[in-house]
Amino acid sequence: MADGSMPLAFTSEVETATGPIWEKVKTRVTPLEWRLQAPLVAAINALKREKNAVILAHNYMTPEIFHGVGDYVGDSLGLAREAAKSDAAVIVQAGVLFMAETSKVICPDKTVLIPDLRAGCSLAASITGADVRLIKQRYPGVPVVAYINTTAEVKAEIDICCTSANAVQVVEHVAAEWGVDRVILLPDEFLARNVARQTAIKIIAWQGRCEVHERFDATDIIELRAAYPHAEILAHPECPAEVLELADFAGSTAAMTDYVMRRKPRQVVLITECSMADNVACDAPETEFVRPCNLCPHMKRITLENIYEALLHHQFEVKVEASIAARARLAVQRMIDMPPPATPARYDLVKARHHVDVELI
Ligand code: SF4
Repeated sequence: MADGSMPLAFTSEVETATGPIWEKVKTRVTPLEWRLQAPLVAAINALKREKNAVILAHNYMTPEIFHGVGDYVGDSLGLAREAAKSDAAVIVQAGVLFMAETSKVICPDKTVLIPDLRAGCSLAASITGADVRLIKQRYPGVPVVAYINTTAEVKAEIDICCTSANAVQVVEHVAAEWGVDRVILLPDEFLARNVARQTAIKIIAWQGRCEVHERFDATDIIELRAAYPHAEILAHPECPAEVLELADFAGSTAAMTDYVMRRKPRQVVLITECSMADNVACDAPETEFVRPCNLCPHMKRITLENIYEALLHHQFEVKVEASIAARARLAVQRMIDMPPPATPARYDLVKARHHVDVELI
């Protein structure tokens, strides 16, 4: 709209243009909501073409964003790979700030926008570059792996990045490369503990937490089993180990999606952020999703309205200081250059070593 006001008219053109998206999301979005959302979806998709922009939408975006305007959708690793391949001039990160920083680090010549600068992350906020420098002084000769959920400043200090989809693979790769038997894995304590159960490499961990996944506990799983005895329970490795122990499967968001799409369980519970179940449900109509529902308040700052504003007004541009970006890029690129797993990595709960401890910094 020329005056920048929100495009709210649900015209027949909008209805036709967004019809295929409605077919996909109609089990998760009400007709009344769609009358408000569809004009924005249509306007955003038109603005993307006009501005040579793409939208990278994380699995934790709501369905109207994920299925409605996302050009590339997936987990942090998948989005980082897509950012690297994209030839668009503008990337709009429908996710949180560390993801936008990662896109900028990988694509320094592109304009990277985030619709709300307050979209943070409790894990990324748990550690600074100065912390990592002190850790390296304390553990000389020990490689530092950091979860992608960190700031560019932290990535600039580490040896290689990982995500929950490849953390075990990265830890074992870097240990072999350095010829060592211990690795520092930052900043998620629970991910570090769950990785430690999957490998013979000793893990040194930081005490960061994801505020969404740390809220799940064993009681939740026991109660879910009692209430839904036929449901298959899938848990994310940012959850405490006691949750993974009681689950049927554990893996990254990509691995959980893969599990549902391949195995088509009759009833499933995804122990992760709420919107993930909604997005997978749109593609798996034969599966019933039980929703234990913990919302990420940071992800939920991203809306159709502020994506529209971001494209229209070219806001808010994410910049990373050149010397930090150059060093952070090395850590991200080392991860991207590793061969992707043939299927999304799972945390093998049968083989898991149950009495492994980690050294906490
Ligand atoms: S779900 Fe957890 S790890 Fe992901 S952005 Fe939110 S707080 Fe950070």
